[in-house]
Amino acid sequence: MRVLILEDGKCKVQSSSNPETWYEVDVEEETCTCPHHTYRQVKCKHIKDAQREVEKKFAEKLRTGKKDEPKPEEEEIPDDPFNSVWGTL
Ligand SMILES: [Zn+2]
Repeated sequence: MRVLILEDGKCKVQSSSNPETWYEVDVEEETCTCPHHTYRQVKCKHIKDAQREVEKKFAEKLRTGKKDEPKPEEEEIPDDPFNSVWGTL
């Protein structure tokens, strides 16, 4: 089953019986657009799958979060800029 993570805690989960069908899941509200949830108000497998994927992504983000930030290029500054300028003259 495929899960697409959207913005704001929303996900799209592919139906396992019909690959053409995608259900919209709100992970925080625990809602799903599938009939199972809509008519029976149960926490369907789509919600569970979406929550698992979001948690996985969140854990990954925490783990690799610091690497995401690009390091600013450090400018090479001579210990004594004044002296080195005079040295090149
Ligand atoms: Zn569902």
